[in-house]
Amino acid sequence: MIISRVISKVRQALGQTESAGDNTIQARILKRQEHGISRDDISENALKVLYRLHKSGFQAYLVGGCVRDLIVGLRPKDFDVVTDATPEEVKGLFRNCRLIGRRFRLAHIVFGREIIEVATFRGHHQSGDESKHEKLGEQNVEGQIVRDNVFGSIEEDAERRDFTVNAMYYNIADYTVSDFANGMQDIRNKKIELIGDPETRYREDPVRMIRAVRFAAKLDMSISDRAAKGIHDLHGLLANIPPARLFEEVLKLFVSGQGLKTFQLLLEFQLFEQLFPQLKSHLNDPHGRERKFIEQVLTNTDNRINTGQRVTPAFLYASMLWYPLEEHCEKLMQESGLTRHDAFNIAMNDVLHRQIQRIMIPKRFSTGIRDIWQLQERLPKRFGRRAYQMLENPRFRAGYDFLLLRGQIEGGKLLELADWWTDFQEADGNARKAMLVALREAEGGGPRRGNRRRKRRTQPASQ
Ligand code: ATP
Ligand code: MG
Repeated sequence: MIISRVISKVRQALGQTESAGDNTIQARILKRQEHGISRDDISENALKVLYRLHKSGFQAYLVGGCVRDLIVGLRPKDFDVVTDATPEEVKGLFRNCRLIGRRFRLAHIVFGREIIEVATFRGHHQSGDESKHEKLGEQNVEGQIVRDNVFGSIEEDAERRDFTVNAMYYNIADYTVSDFANGMQDIRNKKIELIGDPETRYREDPVRMIRAVRFAAKLDMSISDRAAKGIHDLHGLLANIPPARLFEEVLKLFVSGQGLKTFQLLLEFQLFEQLFPQLKSHLNDPHGRERKFIEQVLTNTDNRINTGQRVTPAFLYASMLWYPLEEHCEKLMQESGLTRHDAFNIAMNDVLHRQIQRIMIPKRFSTGIRDIWQLQERLPKRFGRRAYQMLENPRFRAGYDFLLLRGQIEGGKLLELADWWTDFQEADGNARKAMLVALREAEGGGPRRGNRRRKRRTQPASQ
């Protein structure tokens, strides 16, 4: 196997041990005091799953992000389990189990809102043994893995993982951690190191390039030189990833609590333009308003996440694509003589359509994106009842937050408008009325605009 040979070379270079005779990698076994993981920090449901597998005679480990996060002292988002039991065997052990996935067959054990994912050890793709593995594992001409249901040993499973810090296994049988690729040392050195040969591993799955960036930002580590060089050479391969797979991975980039840092790294590695091609020409100037706007949005997103508040993907995507939308809208008005209203609607469709060629945006979020955008057109129109109706709009808050950010970046009339809405929300009934009167006088003071019809329409609101 190419991967094991490459790993073997890397390990020799790193001075690590290998079992004699074959080229399977061997783990370093870290005891409790070396890895520091306490069962108190492991979800009770994950422990239940691990113990039941173990008592039924199967191997059972926590693996991946949760082990890594527990070691570095972060709270894991979720707990993933691996075992030598097949998905069907897992299903036989848990009533609350459902099998999911085609590309990766997995068992989900459902405990109310918590889901413990249980995977069977993945094996290698045997290129010389097509007949047996044909239906289970598959690679396309670019070397990308498109189907992956070959089961294997824990060693093989470890070799297939992306980064050394993600290939550590917490064994429920004796509470040790098996460290297959020297992840512990890389944690100490604060290094994101790819397992195996970068070119092969990125070709197998180009998503690993954005994952490298995500982990570097999230864990405050740096990407090793060899892993970084691979990204510089191969970032274009991201275009081969099916858009449906990218939504979740891209979302994780921006909701880790380190979205700003992640964004800056994505730019540095030319990965951002792969994900958002329409922004390519907008981000060249590091001090330009487009860049500042996205940075401000991500700073706020990080603050919200780090203080336990919710963020919506719709807001993030609406922000990313705002300037391409404005530019396209202006262009349509100039070139086709469309009204602002028509041009804006067409531009919304076009910009979203182009984006989903790269990242599939689920319908519930694209609706939210449109709502936020449309509110930007409606928020300037405040006369009479409109201002009150706007406050009742379920999307008002998101639309207003968005306007405020635009105002903070662009200043001028936009900021005045955003401040007006801030005051209007805070004002009591009389103060609101006064604000609307003042607005009418300031904006509708001319002989034609201060007409009676508009005055009449304000009356019901002042009752
Ligand atoms: P997070 O804390 O963000 O969930 P994670 O490391 O758990 O980080 P997941 O996407 O949940 O990331 O993946 C779980 C584990 O599966 C990883 O730690 C890694 O070992 C393995 N893995 C995930 N994606 C890949 C990939 N594209 N290539 C190889 N291994 C992967
Ligand atoms: Mg995870």
